[in-house]
Amino acid sequence: MTVKIAVAGSKGRMGQLIMEEIRKFEDLELVAGFDLLGVGDPLDGGVSVSDSSDLADVLQKSGAQVLIDFTTPIATVENVRVAANLGVNLVVGTTGFSEDQKKEMARAIEGRVAAVISPNFSVGVNLFWKLIEVAARSLEGYDIEVIEAHHRNKMDAPSGTAAEAVKVLAKATGRIEVVYGREGRGLRGDEIGVHAVRAGDIVGDHTVLFAGPGERLEIKHQAHSRQAFASGAVRSARWVTGIPNGIYAMADVLDQK
Ligand code: NAP
Repeated sequence: MTVKIAVAGSKGRMGQLIMEEIRKFEDLELVAGFDLLGVGDPLDGGVSVSDSSDLADVLQKSGAQVLIDFTTPIATVENVRVAANLGVNLVVGTTGFSEDQKKEMARAIEGRVAAVISPNFSVGVNLFWKLIEVAARSLEGYDIEVIEAHHRNKMDAPSGTAAEAVKVLAKATGRIEVVYGREGRGLRGDEIGVHAVRAGDIVGDHTVLFAGPGERLEIKHQAHSRQAFASGAVRSARWVTGIPNGIYAMADVLDQK
């Protein structure tokens, strides 16, 4: 059976790659694309870019079963509300949500649709989160620093992937203090340090450094292209069709949980 997919942010870096990925599969069909600019521009299969303000109308008319959203936090919260009300399942890749925005999305989704929400859809990063958890539990008392690097156009810092890494590390170690960057004089405490580099066209690097007496261990993931995220998002769109309503992570799609 064909899965009908709509893409929000269809003119964006991720949106364009996601549409390319959809094109590779005979059982997937792009039925709508939304963006702020380029409204009316042709996409695949006779579809053209729709104005985001027409989301409800176009989702209904196109018969979309899943909306894949890689836009901005404000746009995504609204898109999730509209899609969930119409019973359209969701794959959300946008990062940089506030806690309130996350709660708002959860309220819109619960009991209405199934949604996969992940700050990183790559297979490697989902394993990275597992590996740093094991290391954090094993290397008791070691200093922990999270270092991420992204392209100069990335809006949010630290990245959603780094934020998830901090969550995993805090849970594994019981450390609650997080220090973002450092400046001036003073000794490090028991915190988790977080550092964000923004430069050039770096797709996405994440390192967790564990340092103790006389040694250090670094666990590092580097994305070479956005392809890894696009294929994970499209895989999630197929997976999310026909499962019980609720909020899922990429780990559920990969069956790592
Ligand atoms: P991007 O190139 O800026 O693309 C975002 C697109 O969304 C832009 O074309 C933007 O239009 C459009 N947009 C903004 N508001 C919209 C709305 N209301 N409705 C429809 N489209 C709207 O950014 P990107 O690099 O693709 O990244 C997008 C998001 O995905 C970011 O939050 C990023 O951190 C995240 N991301 C997640 C993963 C993952 O694996 N989860 C991987 C990579 C990126 P304008 O340009 O006109 O504003």
